[in-house]
Amino acid sequence: MRPSKRVASIPPYFFADLAGRLSEVAARGVDLIRMDMGAPDLPPAPHIIHALTQAAARPDAHSYTPFGGTPAFREAVASFYRSRFEVDLDPRREVLGLIGSKEGIFHLIESFVDPGDVALVAEPSYPVYASAARIAGGDVEGLPLRRENGFLPDLAAVDRDRLAKAKVLCLNYPNNPTGATADVAFFRRAVEFARAHDLLLIHDAAYTEVAFDGFRPPSLLEVDGAKEVAVEFHTLSKTYNMAGWRLGMAVGNRQAIEALYVLKSQIDTSHFLAAQEAGVAALTGDQAWTQERNRVYRERRDIVLEGVRAIGMTADTPRAAMYVWAALPKAETSSTEFCNRMLEATGVSTTPGVAFGQEGEGYVRFSLATPTARVREAMERLVRWRG
Ligand code: PLP
Repeated sequence: MRPSKRVASIPPYFFADLAGRLSEVAARGVDLIRMDMGAPDLPPAPHIIHALTQAAARPDAHSYTPFGGTPAFREAVASFYRSRFEVDLDPRREVLGLIGSKEGIFHLIESFVDPGDVALVAEPSYPVYASAARIAGGDVEGLPLRRENGFLPDLAAVDRDRLAKAKVLCLNYPNNPTGATADVAFFRRAVEFARAHDLLLIHDAAYTEVAFDGFRPPSLLEVDGAKEVAVEFHTLSKTYNMAGWRLGMAVGNRQAIEALYVLKSQIDTSHFLAAQEAGVAALTGDQAWTQERNRVYRERRDIVLEGVRAIGMTADTPRAAMYVWAALPKAETSSTEFCNRMLEATGVSTTPGVAFGQEGEGYVRFSLATPTARVREAMERLVRWRG
């Protein structure tokens, strides 16, 4: 029994691997506090769950649904983009429903990258961009995200030979793992860069609705002409605490959406109707409750910032996303080793920065998707350990 070379060459997915290691630690009786994954701990709003249960109770709700999402779901996505970002989308040709945005990002990259092509990927980053490009036989060129540049890539510094072979550019703001944000001026430069070098610009906007202190992150599609070169991904996982429901969307460039549709129609058969109806309720219903939810994340953010700074880590205050990106205390050099020691000494599980690529070395990512009392307890344990 031999898997394909393609599959055999894939390194283990960090979080799948971590789950195994954590169950061994828990089996030793350690009281684990998980601050590693960005999986929202709070439930969706009651009107979303109500829409799900209402739809699920209907006898006609259990068949296959249209490829690419129901017309109602695609309309709801367009309506969300109009009211939130003042971006107009054609629901039939510029919107596609996804089984979570991870799936869509992976398949869009498969739809565009051929063996030998280069994928420009900001690094550190959510792992799917680089792994999708490699599985397609492409070559990944990491664009370093450094603190001195506000964790934005220096597009002018991309190697010219690699650029000539590049097919896609992957960006993500608000950013996982750094918590950095980008403004429309940066997005404009990225769109111009993609146009000048004939790239598909893939923007992962998973965290635009998780933001603090009145900040409203923009969509890349707010840039005039962005749809000529870009596809943006969004997910109901983070916006509405619906991570297990696996509902997301791709929006933007028609040719790219069409290519993604062609590939996906060979792979999946859309999504459960009730989940999509709940998605409609989420996207078109009351948005105010997300502000309440963000206040909970903000309180946790501030507890984490105080805790990590008390043990000699440095971290900027993020304005969005659900992570604190903290530099290792002086004299520490390996994020993996530091996180392992923290886990053994305190039971607090975090993600070493290197899990997001070599450029992430020297940092630790703390997720804010853990109940507030446990976040407080985690920080107390860290201070007892190293404070
Ligand atoms: N994009 C980013 C930047 C993420 O951090 C995540 C999940 O953590 C995703 C996409 C995937 O979200 P989904 O649940 O829609 O697959």
